[in-house]
Amino acid sequence: MVGETARAANFSLGGYPRPTNRRLDGSEVIYFSRVISCGTDTATSLPCMFSNLGADGFSVSAAGQRENVLDVLMRAGVQVTWLENNSGCKGVCARVPTEVMPVVGPSGLCNDSGCQDEVLVGALQRKLSSIDTDALVVLHLMGSHGPSYFKRYPAPGPFQPTCDTNRIQTCDREALINTYDNTIDYTSKVVADAIRVATDQADRLETAVIYLSDHGESLGERNIYLHGLPKPLAPREQSEVPMIGWVSSRAAAALEVKPTCLRDVSVKPYSHDNLFHTLLGFHGVKTAAYTPSLDIFAIAREGPGCGTRP
Ligand SMILES: [Zn+2]
Repeated sequence: MVGETARAANFSLGGYPRPTNRRLDGSEVIYFSRVISCGTDTATSLPCMFSNLGADGFSVSAAGQRENVLDVLMRAGVQVTWLENNSGCKGVCARVPTEVMPVVGPSGLCNDSGCQDEVLVGALQRKLSSIDTDALVVLHLMGSHGPSYFKRYPAPGPFQPTCDTNRIQTCDREALINTYDNTIDYTSKVVADAIRVATDQADRLETAVIYLSDHGESLGERNIYLHGLPKPLAPREQSEVPMIGWVSSRAAAALEVKPTCLRDVSVKPYSHDNLFHTLLGFHGVKTAAYTPSLDIFAIAREGPGCGTRP
């Protein structure tokens, strides 16, 4: 699950004092609390997080001239699907079967300004129930896309009062934060729902869910709003992003990694650079492009008492 504009600062899983992640209570998720995004906008971060150039070597043009992790997985026989509910995949899904969420869709989730992210859960359910081989389904969320935060979740949301306009500078700071926190609350529900769908298939498939945001957001700190400042100048709120992992017990056994060992390494520093190698590691793809030291599952197996092989 590729989040959108979710900043780590507002995740209660990471210590934010408001219960923005209560919908994940009981979901047995692992929260990675020190994750840095490649860029501060979608056009940079999205291609970067799926490439193996790394943040230091990344440029959009260089990424466009080489395979990304989805291409590598497909060549290795993994069935890859991209479910799109944002402004497009920035070239990442160019060679991947893609389903764009409908503008007018089921159960009141969509209107003329797009669909709320629960629409992706139904699409995931349909996709997963038909899968009988190695597969990766990417959900590209609308998440907390600004400035119209109030359109991203079913009203009213738990935090009130809200800022129901796209002219966010005109709102009280408190209302703006409430509105943004409502988007995080809703994203938590969508992640929890996706985990439920994955759980439903867990007797048949070795399922896991990774949620990772593309970049953060400024909400008026030092009078800065939205995102996209050049990385050296950007405040930390724009580049500190949440990452959530959930691994079914069958997948954990197949990966030879204990969930407690993943939890142990969840406080280490990570970045978008880890996604490419973690996805290859999950699928067991052998390629010269794979770097075990960047695969979070491999890192977890290195912990004391964590390797199940001598
Ligand atoms: Zn974005």
